[in-house]
Order: sequence, then C-alpha cells, then structure tokens
Amino acid sequence: MKFSDVPGHHEAKRRLVEMVQQGRLPHALLISGPVGSGEVMLARAFVQYLHCTGRSATDNDSCGQCPSCRQHQSLNHADLHFAFPILKKGSGVTLCEDYMPQWRELLDQDPWMDFRRWPEMLGKANGQPVIYVDEADVLRRKLSMAARVSGLNVAMIWLPEKLVPATANALLKLIEEPEPGSMFVMVSNAPAEILPTVYSRCQRIELRRLSDAEVAEVIGQGLNPADALAAAHVAEGNVIAARDSLGTRDSQRNLDLFMQLMRLAYQRKVGDLKAWSETVAALGRDGICRFLDYCQRMVRENFILNLQVPELNYLTADEGQFSSRFCPFINERNVEGLIKELNDAETDIRGNTGAKIVLFDLAIKVIILLKA
Ligand SMILES: [Zn+2]
Repeated sequence: MKFSDVPGHHEAKRRLVEMVQQGRLPHALLISGPVGSGEVMLARAFVQYLHCTGRSATDNDSCGQCPSCRQHQSLNHADLHFAFPILKKGSGVTLCEDYMPQWRELLDQDPWMDFRRWPEMLGKANGQPVIYVDEADVLRRKLSMAARVSGLNVAMIWLPEKLVPATANALLKLIEEPEPGSMFVMVSNAPAEILPTVYSRCQRIELRRLSDAEVAEVIGQGLNPADALAAAHVAEGNVIAARDSLGTRDSQRNLDLFMQLMRLAYQRKVGDLKAWSETVAALGRDGICRFLDYCQRMVRENFILNLQVPELNYLTADEGQFSSRFCPFINERNVEGLIKELNDAETDIRGNTGAKIVLFDLAIKVIILLKA
C-alpha cells in the first residue's frame, strides 16, 4: 500500500513523510480516524514507506517495487508484527497468530476494515473480540529480536480501544522502555476509549472524515456520478457505509415505497394506503426504521429542491426524476410537520407499538399535510 493508494488525508501524509525524512520517529504513533476513513490503509502506507529501500531521501512515497515494498504488499514483511482483537478458542491460550489467515483475508479483501464483519470471520457473529494479555508477551518477544530485514521492528495494533486493561498495562512498559529498533503504530476508531496512560504516551495523528467527493471517487466505479455523490453524502465520509447503501436493494425499494406513499396520499386512496402500510410493516422493525429515515431524507431533499438550491441537493438519478415533479408539494407549511410525523412514527416503531397501525396513521397524516 502506497500513500498514493490512500484517498485524501494530505496533511496527515505530509506529517508522516516528514517524520521519516527527518528521522524523528516516536516510540508509539497513534493514527485515529472515523470508521471508513482509510485509517488502516494510511498506517500500512506509512510502514511500507518507512521500510522502503527504493526511495531517495526526498521521495514522498514508497517505491512499490523494492523487495521490502513487495513483502508489504503481500502482507509478508518480516519486521511488521500485528496485534488485533480476537475471540478465545476453547480454554487454552489463543493468540493472534491463530487467526492469521482471517486477518490476511480482511486486510487483503477489505482494506477499509469493516469491523462488523470481523467477529463472523473469527467464527462467532455475535462475539466481542478483544486483545488478550498473552498478546503483550508475544509482542515483547518479537520486538526484542533484531529486525530481520529493515533494522526497524514495527508492531501494528489494530483498535487499541479493544485492549483489555491487563494488556494495556503490559504494553505500557514496552512503550515506556522500548526495545531498541522498534516502534508501535496503533490505529484507532475510538481514541477516547483507549486507556489514558497509553493514549498520553502516543504521538497522535487525528484523521478527519473524507470529503463527499473523495468517498464518491472511491465507490464511483461504474456508477452514475450523481448516484455516487448522493451515496457518499448520506454516508458522511464513511466509505464502508457508502458502499453498503449502494450494495443493498434497500435504496430502490425505499424509493418505490416513498413514491407510493406520496402518490396515494395525494390521491386520498385510503384503501390502498391501508395495503401500503401492511407492505411496509412486513419489513420488520429495523427495515421500517431505515425506511422512515429514508423518507425524512427525501422530504428534506425535496424541500431543498423546491427552494431551488441545486448545489445543496444530493439525489440519485432515480430520486431526482421523481423529485423534479414532486418537490412543489413540500414547502415551508408542511416540511416540519412531515419530518415530525415520520420521526414520531419511528419512535413508536422502536417502542414496539403495532407497526400496521402506526404506519396507517402516518399515511393519513401525510394526506392532510400534503394539502397544506
Ligand atoms: Zn520500496
């Protein structure tokens, strides 16, 4: 992974390059960023750059060609050691080494590192992976041996917020009295949850979310640019969430159900709205809540469209087609009421009130509000 493979984060890249060029490496570096911002990719690019033997003193990226870079690209560099959250197998000691095939698979197939997939890859979808204390011994042993290839051993810890306190305390000693020729690179999504004694001893680089345009470029292959930008905008800089929203059938179905609601309510077809509420109720609680969220977004987008501020609009091509005709019906007299009713319905559904009744009641209120 080269810096040029990682979108955005120009300031962070500049600081990381400078650290290496000036030979001012901290014992412990903490790179933190929101989920889906490419935080692990940036850490990998940094270590590859650090170990690269093919760059000159002024190159701002690794060469991608030298033996060291090739070992990093195949996840086989002898001087890079990983620790990451795992689940215990049986009663004996379980180490990260036992999960190396899964770890390589995650890094290789999903460099954005979707933690939600991880417990299932470890064999237990509802497990709560943590970094056990035995891992600290393994790292101490690995870091105390001379770096085999590069002269610098790097221990990369994915999600230090998942260190159990005993592990964090054991690592603390290693950070305070580092083995010569070694450093830690930690990558976190929740720096506030890291043990303060560890956190305070790290040099920190905080990443901001990626911009909508950067996310759209990552997910945009083969997509209509407006669809990519709409998905990126809704995902608030999170590539994983943006990818999810495109990958699911949810978005088309939600648009269809939203169009039905608005058309039937406008035509006051109460019988058909009853059937509509039964269709939506069948989505189940989570599905209904996602649909109601979607409706709130569409109401807001249509209001903005009606105000004729197209640069603030984020609609897919299909949504845009419907909205260009529908938006005159969303105005300053009903926009708040519609959002409130959708929001109240969601609260009721989460509180387990009967879905069919809540949704039918919502549909009747939409009839009234659309006439406003
Ligand atoms: Zn290289």
